This record gives sequence, C-alpha cells and structure tokens, in this order.
Amino acid sequence: MPAPVPAADRSEAAQASPPQRPPSISAAVPEPFGLAITIDDVPWNGPMPGGDTAVRATRRMIEVLAQHRAPVAVFVNCRGGRTSRLVLDEWAAAGATVGNHTTGHLDLHATPLARWEESIRDCDAFLKRTGVRPRYFRYSQLHHGRTSAEGDSAAAAVARQGYRNAPVTIDNSDFLLATPYELAMRAGDTAKRDALTRLMLAHDSVATVHFRDVARAVLGRDVRHVLLLHANTMTADNLDRLLTMLADMGAHFISLDDALADPVYALPDRVRSPAGVSWLYRVGAISTDRMQRGGRVTTPVILYDGNCGFCDGTVKFVLPAAGHRPRRDLACAMALRSASDAEAREEASRA
Ligand SMILES: [Zn+2]
Repeated sequence: MPAPVPAADRSEAAQASPPQRPPSISAAVPEPFGLAITIDDVPWNGPMPGGDTAVRATRRMIEVLAQHRAPVAVFVNCRGGRTSRLVLDEWAAAGATVGNHTTGHLDLHATPLARWEESIRDCDAFLKRTGVRPRYFRYSQLHHGRTSAEGDSAAAAVARQGYRNAPVTIDNSDFLLATPYELAMRAGDTAKRDALTRLMLAHDSVATVHFRDVARAVLGRDVRHVLLLHANTMTADNLDRLLTMLADMGAHFISLDDALADPVYALPDRVRSPAGVSWLYRVGAISTDRMQRGGRVTTPVILYDGNCGFCDGTVKFVLPAAGHRPRRDLACAMALRSASDAEAREEASRA
C-alpha cells in the first residue's frame, strides 16, 4: 500500500497551483445571481485519507465559508456516534442551518414508506438531542418518488413531521469524483489529484451555467439557486477554489432561507421518476431524456458514462456541456492526464 499523504502536505497541495478558470466560462462581465451553498451527508461521506479527521476537515470548510461570507446549510445523515456529535457541534457553533437527511441515508425508492418516515423521525430526535431545531429536509439522492402516489405520500410524511423540503437547482453529482480523488490522495498521486480538481471545477462551472440556462428556459428568468455539495475530502480541499470560481461567475452567497423565498420553490413538483433531478427539471416537467434530445433549453445535458480507469467501475454523471456535441472522452482525458491547462483548453475547444 502506498503511504498516505500527510495532512500538512494535503493542505499545501490544495494551494499548490492557483485556481484555473475553466474553459467554458465566458470572459464577459458575469450577471449576478443568488446562490445558497448546501452540503449533504454530514458528518462525512467516504474515507478520510492521510490522518485527517472529519472534525478538522469540517473546520477547514467552515473557515473557507466564513472567508467568503457564505452562509451554509448542512444536511445530516444521523448515524449517531461521537464523530457525528462533534462535527454537528462545529457546524452549529458556526451558525450553519442544520437539516434532516434521514438516519441511514435511506432511499425513498428502495425503502417501505413507513420505515423511510421512521428514519426522518429518528434523525429529527437525534438532531434535537444535540440542541438543533431543524426545519429543512433533503431527500436522499434527490429521490422524490417514482409515482404520484409515492411522491405525494412522501411529501405528506415530510410535512407531517414539520419539515420543508429543501430542493436543489444546481445538481452536479460531485460525489462521483470524490472517490477517485480520495484514492489519488492515498496513493500520493498529486498529478491525478490536480487533474481531478480541475475536472471538478470545470464540471461545477458548466453545471452552474447550464442550470441558469434551464431556469431562463423554464421560467423566463434566473432564480435564487441552491447548490448541492457533499461532505468529503474533495469538497474540503477545494472549497476555496470553488467559491472563488462561483463568485467570479457572478454568485453572491445567500442563506437557504433567502433562496427558498424565491417563488420557484413553491411551484409543484411535476416529475415522478426513478432519477433524482434538479428542482428546475421538476417544475418544468423536463426529463433528462428530453434534455438530452435538446428539449427546451439550448444547452443539452450529456450523460457521461464511461469507464475512466481511475476508479472501480463506471463513472456516470451529468455533464452539461457548453457545446452541442457529446464530449464523452473529455472528462476522462482531463482526469487521467496531467495535461497542462493549455492542453485542457485546447481539448475543450475541439470537443
Ligand atoms: Zn445524501
């Protein structure tokens, strides 16, 4: 087994190269938009490489959020235990909005409704024992129900327990890059880690541009957006770069309360599907298939589905492309090669 990368090296490495503006961002002055940052799967999702701890990584994220004056809402997978309690205390002390994400991260689509509802109740009791008064709920995997009956019953259960659903508009499936990132960290492979960081930022950039386009296509205007991130090493290491990039794109950071005051979040959920999708697809009744075919927006969603070789199995995530042709090889190429940014830009322009 390769030696783990020490925590000190990790934080240095995270600052080793300056943030690179991904190639898909226009150089024009960005149009401002409100953006609420939300982080799911607190206390932690995935392995913790190199002697780091969830508490230390959480403190790093809190520090970065404070530097950017970015309010945050975190959604807790209430597994109990000392780590959960310590991490939760950090977020609560930092003034984060703390929400319910079930106990056990239960998937509505794979769990009997009564058991799923019990997991919300159980998480609610855990959060309240820690002194939190949670108001928001986040569906695991953004699974809102495959049928009208299932979706309506689940929504009623959420409301019955005094919660409001906290939808997501900018969904980027970032967690799918987190495991290869953690493996690269463990292997001490800085080139791969840096390539994955560039890929993450490029992906978040195109996802943000894409969902702003979707809002305009569905509603005729932009909305106060809600971004979904996950509590993992990739997020903790790169949050400063990500928030810097988003601010450069016009984001001003707002609370979840402020974001959800936008009337878009009062519109009915019109999509019943096995897929967990953006709230903007839901209110626009747009399926991912339809988006892929061109649908009502000018920027198609590309479902990237290829074995990149840097992780076990298949990487599959929604990659909203800036262009109009599938860029099936781009993500792999960017992740696998320690290509210079100039090469990556050239590759993007060819795709
Ligand atoms: Zn989750």
